[in-house]
Amino acid sequence: MFKNKEEFKFEFSRRIIESYGRTVEEAHITEKFLTLETMVRDYASVNWATTKSVVKNNEQKQMHYFSMEFLMGRLLVNNMMNLGIYDIAKEGLADYGINIHDLEELESDAGLGNGGLGRLAACFMDSLASLDYPGHGNSIRYEYGLFKQKIENGYQIELPDQWMKTGFMWEVRKPKHRVPVKFFGRVVWNESTGRWEHVDAVVVNAVPYDVPVVGNDTTTTNTLRLWSAEPSDDIPANSDFRQYVQNVRDICQCLYPDDSTPAGKMLRLKQEYFFTAAGIAAIVKAHLRVYPNLDNFHEKNVIQLNDTHPVLAIPELMRILIDEHNYEWEDAWDIVTQTFAYTNHTILAEALETWPISTMQTLLPRVYQIIEEIHRRFIGYVKEVSHRDQELIDRVMILRDGTVYMARLAIVGSFSVNGVAQLHTDILKERELKDFCDIFPNKFNNKTNGVTHRRWLAYSNPQLASLITETIGDTWVKKPEHLEDIMEHVKDPILQNRFLDVKRERKQILADYIKEHNGIEVNVDSIFDIQVKRLHAYKRQLLNILHVIYEYQEMKSNPNYRIYPHTYIFGAKAASAYYFAKKVIKLINSVADVVNNDPETNQYLKVVFLENYGVTLAEKIMPAADVSEQISTAGKEASGTGNMKFMMNGAITLGTLDGANVEISERVGDENCVIFGLKDQEVKDLKASGNYHAWDYYNNDMRIRRAVDSLVNGTFHENKEEFRVIFEELMNRNDEYLLLADFASYVDAQHRVATLYQDKNKWAEICLVNIAKSGFFSSDRTIEQYVHDIWHLEKLKF
Ligand SMILES: *Cc1c(COP(=O)(O)O)cnc(C)c1O
Repeated sequence: MFKNKEEFKFEFSRRIIESYGRTVEEAHITEKFLTLETMVRDYASVNWATTKSVVKNNEQKQMHYFSMEFLMGRLLVNNMMNLGIYDIAKEGLADYGINIHDLEELESDAGLGNGGLGRLAACFMDSLASLDYPGHGNSIRYEYGLFKQKIENGYQIELPDQWMKTGFMWEVRKPKHRVPVKFFGRVVWNESTGRWEHVDAVVVNAVPYDVPVVGNDTTTTNTLRLWSAEPSDDIPANSDFRQYVQNVRDICQCLYPDDSTPAGKMLRLKQEYFFTAAGIAAIVKAHLRVYPNLDNFHEKNVIQLNDTHPVLAIPELMRILIDEHNYEWEDAWDIVTQTFAYTNHTILAEALETWPISTMQTLLPRVYQIIEEIHRRFIGYVKEVSHRDQELIDRVMILRDGTVYMARLAIVGSFSVNGVAQLHTDILKERELKDFCDIFPNKFNNKTNGVTHRRWLAYSNPQLASLITETIGDTWVKKPEHLEDIMEHVKDPILQNRFLDVKRERKQILADYIKEHNGIEVNVDSIFDIQVKRLHAYKRQLLNILHVIYEYQEMKSNPNYRIYPHTYIFGAKAASAYYFAKKVIKLINSVADVVNNDPETNQYLKVVFLENYGVTLAEKIMPAADVSEQISTAGKEASGTGNMKFMMNGAITLGTLDGANVEISERVGDENCVIFGLKDQEVKDLKASGNYHAWDYYNNDMRIRRAVDSLVNGTFHENKEEFRVIFEELMNRNDEYLLLADFASYVDAQHRVATLYQDKNKWAEICLVNIAKSGFFSSDRTIEQYVHDIWHLEKLKF
């Protein structure tokens, strides 16, 4: 299409004239942006077509990643870089007087996810394509992504995220590939066929929109398939079609703004079945275009279930095999249980997904019937192998007390069950899913999460990327494990100083953003101590702000107490119905108001809450961090991936031994991170002993008492009741997440950080070690492990 700058310019100009009837000079900036985006998409389409034909001709096995969320972020520059056309485009545009960054800024985030789980799916897509594996995404084309967060008067306000407002040029609508999805109705036995039939159903058409996933420096271009619901002509007689159309629209309208509690809503279940059933139907159809039947389905397809949201794929594939292709139960079950693999993402009991049987039976009568049969046969099997251990049986039932347990269905129907960090997997095997691990010991395995260095370092931090490339060459972009070569240079004072310069430059960029968006001046020579992630009690943003309160009070009451200048930066969205989390956001903002405006302390202490945390903002934040706050109660954070992004950008982890922090600290060593707090086993024992009393900590530690009292004595809000729920949670509901138990240890850890920071070159050395050791936390490594242990894919060859 274009091979050099001149060809690019010619093509760009031709398209602007043809599409908009104007010259490049006359065109509106949005038109230039849309033209560039379309050009990149068309450029990628050539590789896309090649990839599809290679997969088909070689009859290669493919992986399908079923996920309710894909938090892709912006695609334009990332795709240009992966295609190796960024510099050509940048220079060509510059000749027209266009700054490519101005176009970049016009792109909205494809924010089809809540947080870590959705971003993991996006990083996996990048690694699969970049490593030349045929692996595709399957999800929903939400009209609105996760809400846009505004902060008004310190409170979170939610606005619709209209991410497709200027159009989403990456997608290709494929109406020909639409498939019907059935809801409601009833199941009847057809004597003549000897099969069950689903009749009187409400039929919805699922129409795919395909988005190319461009690999780095390769031809491989995979597909992210997003399904959209449209009306079918097959609608029940005498029904009001307007109501029907509205119901259809609702399915893909919104992403549920919460990934940790099952919203008790029929609509959510509809969404889950909708994209799952559509995905399965499409894969089955594609299979039958190449092979005569489905006998070898599992040899050519493997489906990874990202958490339990897509687990209905298991009974759905059973349904297709039995009802539509006349398989016997046992044969169908053999195929199904060699097709699916399940990733568990949480140990929080309240986040394990369940549905009322009545809801499932009403919405999905035939699928429910199949779940019942899976349950019946599984319980029969457990009875046999456990010699009728009734207590065990009660604990593992898929259906019990009017409830469907989705994780149990996932485990029974999959050949692999994985956790997402070593500690998390150990807890699953030894505690939460121990019964299942005893029944199916060979299914359980660990796949420690990773993130893509291409987006989180090469793309988002070009300054640091160049420094690394000057030091060790550029092979780390495709082979992040080569970052280890930095180890030979970490003691080099010249490199250390250059690193500090890069860090300062990135802190200045963030400081400018803060000035523009929050109106707050921050000191770039202060420690940028950052906690950005979803707001949740277990992640303990509250512990962080309580420590800020403590430092402030200490300075106010003791004129000789001076801290090293700190800027505490927060970013977090709270689920719209999560009252406590929203109060913590308000508290952070109220503390910021007081602290930032106190002339006695504000050259030492600043607090900033950045509004609307998402992928694009994260790309600005990660490079600017000195300290990465990863302070969840041990045993609660399955993995965390924010911790890895900070690490590769040269920040030091201040964290508990939770999730992947454990593996980070093992790799960098105790001297290169700051670990504090109770360990997982200690948390468990303390809880079990019944001897944890928040009031004891309050009564015995003056610092805690003073900080906690400030929540209800008017220090940070004229209304003393404003933060009462937070006080109640800590004191009268006995501090479920053990903030007070870890407080003293956290204060000490913060002291260690401040002390370390004052030896600039030593600090730089530590940061460089963190970058060097971040190779393990690449999603390329994670994907290779999935391929080796679970998916068994071959690389594409062109
Ligand atoms: C990486 C990422 C997350 C996950 O952060 P954790 O600290 O692991 O919870 C959430 N949101 C966005 C936008 C991210 O990029």
